[in-house]
Amino acid sequence: MIFKTAKINAFRTWGLLLTMIGMGLMVLGTAGIVFWGQAGKVVAGIGLVLGLITMMGSLGIYFWAGMLSTSAVQIQCPDCAKQTKMLGKTDRCMFCRTMLTLDPNIANVTAEELEAQHATAKSSDASETTVIGTESGNDSTQKV
Ligand SMILES: [Zn+2]
Repeated sequence: MIFKTAKINAFRTWGLLLTMIGMGLMVLGTAGIVFWGQAGKVVAGIGLVLGLITMMGSLGIYFWAGMLSTSAVQIQCPDCAKQTKMLGKTDRCMFCRTMLTLDPNIANVTAEELEAQHATAKSSDASETTVIGTESGNDSTQKV
């Protein structure tokens, strides 16, 4: 998909987009009667048929997305800790758009490592008053 978003959200976006286009075609087609009178009826007919097809397409996408989301894996996002759904082995979080995967071979960071990162980020906030006696010399200890 073009958008960097979760697959389910992408389906919804396309469904909505097609509905809008379909409705637009119908309205424009009907407007053809107003502008061109008798000749506009042909335009209106084409517009209505095309609009109907487009809206049927969006209905199909919605239906398809609904079918897919029943088979989607529901997981808790390790980054933003919200409940999200995954399609396939790799998908983006629906909320923070972090790439998530079920395949450990593709992943460059595991949930445990991410949790550790979050933990250190939190402790660095708190460590402004507490001095940690380590020789690693990271940012949190150098802060005064
Ligand atoms: Zn997330």
